[in-house]
Amino acid sequence: METLSDLSKKFGINVEYASVAFYPVFRAGVAGCRVLLVSDENTCRYAAPFAEKLRGYGIAAEEFVLPAREPVADEATCATVEARAKGACDYVLAVGAGTINDIVKYVTFRLGLPCGVLATAASMDGYASGVTPLIRKGVKVTENAHTVRDILLDTEILRTAPPPMTGAGVGDILAKYCCLTDWKLASLLKGEAVDADAMALMRGALEGCVAALPAIRAGGSAGLGELMRALLVSGYAMVLAGNSRPASGAEHHMSHFLEMDFLRRGKPVPLHGIKVGLGTLVSLHLYKRIAALQEEFAGKAQAAALAVPLPSPEFPPRNPREAPWPVVPRPPKQPKHPKHPMESMESVGEAGNRARGVRWVRWSRFPWIAPIAPRLSAEFPPRNPQEAAWEEVRERSSRV
Ligand SMILES: [Zn+2]
Repeated sequence: METLSDLSKKFGINVEYASVAFYPVFRAGVAGCRVLLVSDENTCRYAAPFAEKLRGYGIAAEEFVLPAREPVADEATCATVEARAKGACDYVLAVGAGTINDIVKYVTFRLGLPCGVLATAASMDGYASGVTPLIRKGVKVTENAHTVRDILLDTEILRTAPPPMTGAGVGDILAKYCCLTDWKLASLLKGEAVDADAMALMRGALEGCVAALPAIRAGGSAGLGELMRALLVSGYAMVLAGNSRPASGAEHHMSHFLEMDFLRRGKPVPLHGIKVGLGTLVSLHLYKRIAALQEEFAGKAQAAALAVPLPSPEFPPRNPREAPWPVVPRPPKQPKHPKHPMESMESVGEAGNRARGVRWVRWSRFPWIAPIAPRLSAEFPPRNPQEAAWEEVRERSSRV
């Protein structure tokens, strides 16, 4: 299999793992530059020694720490970083995961500066993407940005990330089962073009990641490497396809809805991949139910056929040598759905987007989330308010 570095080169991105030579390609690229390292109160512990090391190599490096443990990629935060970077540096290095990377990609795109990222968690698939999701006036929007020039990886840093962050990365990858199926369905029903290379690339990375799940759970470098490969391949598949189809489907719409809802209520927002993982379970559940529905509707047969090879949304039994799952009480019996579940969703846009889009989900229609969610949080226990917000999703799913 092609190495991640070689594959990344084809997409104009330098991916380097930590070594004694300390990222030689990156260093050569920033020689003579003023480098600004942007981090937050969580990730500044990685930025400080990195900046020190750069200065040791004669590279001017300054730090800017966002005064928040969990910054939000919104207008105000982007304006703060832009004001600090403008005229003061020639290259910006994001030190963090999703949010910091998104902010830096967007700001440097506006300023016309190159950027890179020192990844601190294998938690989402936006490292290599050329667009940036931002919050504008409380609404999640996708802004044009550019791709990073360098992605710097250090397994020692990645493995110290909180387990829910790695779990979130897994959620963002398992979502590919659904979004690739949504894409095929859109092609069958609406004649939408499918890029076979992008689909095969994403499919291969998804399967590699699924095979590595025990290693990922164990937290070793081989497992994290496989997860990181899949997360970066997501970005490359989107470049090949020219759109976000290979990496994002209805499950991402559900995640974006949840994000806006948490923000609106002033609550800490659960990690992207956790929300996407939840959306994936909903999508899989819907696909698996279609064949059994009494009603006939356009696309039913095609969707039911595509659902056959999809994994079950139920959790498989655990290896008996592992710790047992916590005992979860069965939820109370729910009344039967009066209509088929597709009716509890609203399509975003018209025609071409209908098979894909979901604007909102009435969670009470999905009572089966309640017993599954505690298993997820037992696997990746929350350690801080943002992660604990995951509990809020579970709470709401069982209460609404
Ligand atoms: Zn995602």
